[in-house]
Formats: sequence, C-alpha cells, structure tokens
Amino acid sequence: MMTAPRHELLDRLPKVRGELIVDAPLAPYAWFRVGGPAEILFRPADAADLTNFLAHKPHDIPVTLFGSGSNVLVRDGGIAGVVIRLTSAFRACRVEWQGDNALVHVGAGAIDISVARQCRDSGVGGLEFLIGVPGTIGGALRMNAGAYGREIAHVMLQAEAFDPAGERQRLTPEDMGFSYRHSAVPEDWIFVSAILQGRRDDPEAISKVMAEIESNREDSQPLRTRTGGSTFMNPPGLKAWQLIDAAGCRGLTRGGAMVSEKHCNFLINSGGASAADLEGLGEEVRRRVKQHSDVTLEWEIRRIGRHENYQVSLGGLKGGDA
Ligand SMILES: Cc1cc2nc3c(=O)[nH]c(=O)nc-3n(C[C@H](O)[C@H](O)[C@H](O)COP(=O)(O)OP(=O)(O)OC[C@H]3O[C@@H](n4cnc5c(N)ncnc54)[C@H](O)[C@@H]3O)c2cc1C
Repeated sequence: MMTAPRHELLDRLPKVRGELIVDAPLAPYAWFRVGGPAEILFRPADAADLTNFLAHKPHDIPVTLFGSGSNVLVRDGGIAGVVIRLTSAFRACRVEWQGDNALVHVGAGAIDISVARQCRDSGVGGLEFLIGVPGTIGGALRMNAGAYGREIAHVMLQAEAFDPAGERQRLTPEDMGFSYRHSAVPEDWIFVSAILQGRRDDPEAISKVMAEIESNREDSQPLRTRTGGSTFMNPPGLKAWQLIDAAGCRGLTRGGAMVSEKHCNFLINSGGASAADLEGLGEEVRRRVKQHSDVTLEWEIRRIGRHENYQVSLGGLKGGDA
C-alpha cells in the first residue's frame, strides 16, 4: 500500500483534543531502545477522544497500539500510519470491596508493577505476579502476561475495548479466548480498561510474595539491560532457554545484539544494536535450534513496523559456535 506524504496523512485525520505528532521517535519508549519512528503518534486526551478518533479515521490508515514497549521490537524503518500510546487518563487504579473480594478497576495504560504495588498497599492479594511483568495492563490483556504460575487470564473478570469503529465492547474472560501468551480478541481492538479480581490479604504477606518474585527475577533475568523479555514462547512441554542453550547460542552476537549469558531466551541490545541485528540474531537462534533439536521456536516478542535495509545475510555473527 502506498503511504500518503506525512502532512497529507495528518490532514486526513479527525480533529483531536490530545496530541498528534508527526515522525515521532519510538525507540526511547521501547525496552530495546531501537527502531524507527511512528509516522504519526496519537496520544488521546481520554476515552472520548480515542473513540471519536477511531470513528472518524479513514479506514485505509493503519493503527498500531503501543503499550510500554516491553514485548515489541520496532523495526528500523519505523511504523506506517498512526501509533497510539495511551496517556495518564488511562492509568486509573481503584479498589472496590465486596466483602473480602476485591474488584480492581484499572485503566489499560496502568503499569502492571504500579498496580501490584497499589494492590499490596490496599491489602489486595492474588495479583502479586504483576510485580514481575514490566508492561501495561493493556499489553498484559493482549499477551495474557503471566509469571510464577499466574497469568492475567486467572484474575480478569471483565475487560473493555474499542473496536476499529470506536464502539465500546465489554468482554468476559470467555470472550478473551486466552491461551499461553495470547488472546484471541481481534488485533485491531484497543483495550481501555479491565476489572481484575483479588481477595483481602495481609499487606506484609503480599509484600513477602512480591519480594520473592523480585529476587528470583533479579537472580535469573538480565533486568538492567535493554531487552524485550522472553524472546520465544516455550514449546509445549519444553523450555525455550534449554533448547537455545543446547544449540550453543548462549552469548551469540550479531552487531550490537547478543543472546544473554544470564538467561539465554533473552536478547539484549548491548550497545548500538539495530532492530535488524536483534531480529537477525533471533532468526539465527531459531535456525540453530531447529537444526539441533528439530523444534521450531515461535517468537513471543512482536516484531512490528518496516524493515530498513534489512539483510538476511548472517555474515555479522560472532560467538557461540559461529
Ligand atoms: C525484562 C522483561 C521481563 C519480562 N517478563 C515477563 C514475564 O515474566 N511474563 C510475561 O508474560 N511477560 C514478560 N515480559 C514481556 C512483557 O512485559 C509483557 O508481554 C507485557 O504484557 C507487554 O506489555 P506492554 O504494555 O509493554 O506491551 P507492548 O510491548 O507495548 O505491546 C505488546 C503487544 O500488546 C499490544 N497492546 C499493548 N497495549 C494494548 C492495548 N491497550 N490494547 C490492545 N493491544 C495492546 C501491542 O499492540 C502489542 O501487540 C517481560 C519483558 C521484559 C522487558
């Protein structure tokens, strides 16, 4: 599809109360700190602004939702069309008590870790696992995010999303079609809020569980690096990191991209990596695992946007058994 010149694209979009930014850098918001800009970035003032925008936007202009960028690899050529980032109007978190049951009303732009902390402070147990997922609630709904045996599917009572026409849709857990790191809700629906279920618990007990999760993560994951979390999904009954390790990929590099020494299902931007370096390294890991174990790894990280001068050549590989 031909993309209209940037100014023309802006002229074709509805008037909004929020911000529309042309050629907006995304790398500063993506955990890998790589990737090209958004052709247009839309920061909706609130839900009414978002629904009006969707209802009046021309159908041929693509829309991509960007959460906190912890599970995406934005390609070097950037993203065509409109990228939407939810603003603080979508970050509310409120606890409603029904006896000892807690209904946590949360905006899709709220950061999981902040929700976990707020629940702890309010004495809401059952959502401790969110301390281990560094994304937004919207990203958690899309990815069925989880950690340490719990996932969003276990705690979601209701979600609200806008469909591409800007109509508000109410979704039950069955409607979400959750499976491992996946929701079957159409990719062009935008989650705006959810109700999560917790139960009354002692804040000290909740703190203890959260501290254990944080300490386990600190020991096993390269948290203070530019990474995108688990790169590949665990194949049924198998661990992706074990397959990657067995294929000799621990420490493998390509340009500024590296397979983490600490957790080899994590890719790292060790400095100056391009998105093409990271994606090319991931594809090489998939190739070697297939060759070694006859298992095809599937990407958990979502690669979005356009390639720029992307070379499939593996000439830049170093380390591992390259
Ligand atoms: C260090 C590290 C550790 C991690 N550990 C875990 C872990 O233990 N468990 C786990 O499950 N994940 C983990 N992740 C991955 C990531 O945090 C989760 O997948 C998270 O849910 C992604 O949320 P996000 O807001 O960053 O989404 P993004 O990465 O911005 O987007 C991911 C996908 O969700 C979509 N999306 C985001 N918001 C919305 C919305 N409002 N409506 C519709 N679609 C939306 C995007 O379009 C995209 O397709 C980790 C990541 C890192 C960097």
